[in-house]
Amino acid sequence: MPTIVHKYGGTSVGTPEKIKAVAEYVKSVRDAGNSVVVIVSAMGHTTDELIDLMHKIAPNPHPREYDMLVSTGEQISAALLAMALQELDCPSVSLTGGQAGVVTEDIYKKARIKDIKLERIRKEIKEGKVVVVTGFQGIDSKGDIITIGRGGSDTSAVAIAAALKADVCDIYTDVTGVFTTDPRIVKEARKLKTISYEEMLELASLGAQVLHPRSVECASIYGIKIHLRSSTRRDETGTIIEEASKMENKEAVRGIALDNNIARIGLLKIPDRPGTAAKIFGALAEEKVNVDMIVQSIHSAGTLADMAFTVEKPDLKKAMEIAKKVGKELKAEEVISDPNVCKVSLVGIGMVSQPGTASKMFDALAKEKINIEMISTSEIKISCVIKEDEGKKAVQLLHKTFGLDKIPQ
Ligand code: ASP
Ligand code: MG
Repeated sequence: MPTIVHKYGGTSVGTPEKIKAVAEYVKSVRDAGNSVVVIVSAMGHTTDELIDLMHKIAPNPHPREYDMLVSTGEQISAALLAMALQELDCPSVSLTGGQAGVVTEDIYKKARIKDIKLERIRKEIKEGKVVVVTGFQGIDSKGDIITIGRGGSDTSAVAIAAALKADVCDIYTDVTGVFTTDPRIVKEARKLKTISYEEMLELASLGAQVLHPRSVECASIYGIKIHLRSSTRRDETGTIIEEASKMENKEAVRGIALDNNIARIGLLKIPDRPGTAAKIFGALAEEKVNVDMIVQSIHSAGTLADMAFTVEKPDLKKAMEIAKKVGKELKAEEVISDPNVCKVSLVGIGMVSQPGTASKMFDALAKEKINIEMISTSEIKISCVIKEDEGKKAVQLLHKTFGLDKIPQ
């Protein structure tokens, strides 16, 4: 009997009615002759509400208690879905991550999944039950409940699908698939039939919040196809995330992402000698500030350089304090920052084999008098930092320039 893995996000199990609707559907998949394992997120905004509640008691609690608290959201939805299935006379059992054999690293709040011990899930499947597992959590070597980072239920689902050697992991969510760009920004955005793991990973890391980036990483390691699809429009095929070699079309650009959550910092006229970059970024790393784009440029004299980099907006204050301190030590002429920037990125694995993508992008921006402040490229991505208030316009313009409004659906 084939084993099917479904994952339902918070919106999809957000109300009792929605939980009942999911139960009906899961039952129909089981009745069609499949074993079904369902991974659930917490209902609606439960996790955020639990965190708000926590802040009323303790601003900075021990991470063990944080995990103990926030993991309860998924227990609620798992138990309710199992009950809804039982109400339909569909045998079902809910399991916590620990009960389902999800073993994580001994790191509170953001552990990685190390192993899935399948005995319990297999036993329940054998007894004919639909197994409902809490996403977002596992247990560590001490038996403590551990969560795996916000949005982590997608990763729980893919890891369980991989352990069960399922062909595909169906992720049911509140969108119908992965789009060429955010349809709220470009109304002509098109749904992609397929996208490669690499492209999806870039888009997910760039702030397209459809999937937890680690779930894509995990799927690519184990070769699990992800079918991202709508939980309400189930007849509609969503987007398949799979290996690039299995895909037909290789347009240079497949998706455009806009990230408004960045800020830029610059250290001007610092000495151009070994060790300066190590000093700046070492100090930032020590304080756990994530740095994204880095650009160093030289001055004509050759003895001085400018260093510019981006951080996440909420980290700007902390990063500036560090940059100012290091800047003083390095005798920087000035340390500047700008929170009003954004990053526009083109993503596509076809870029490697099609030169000219970058110049086409720069040209299009230039024609609209949009100034590029920083550029970074990889084999499958070109990102430009521009003024935040020009971000939407840039995305709309590039979507058209690269013909993404015309791709076949
Ligand atoms: N409930 C968790 C969160 O809100 C995990 C998830 O939904 O994926 O982050
Ligand atoms: Mg999610």
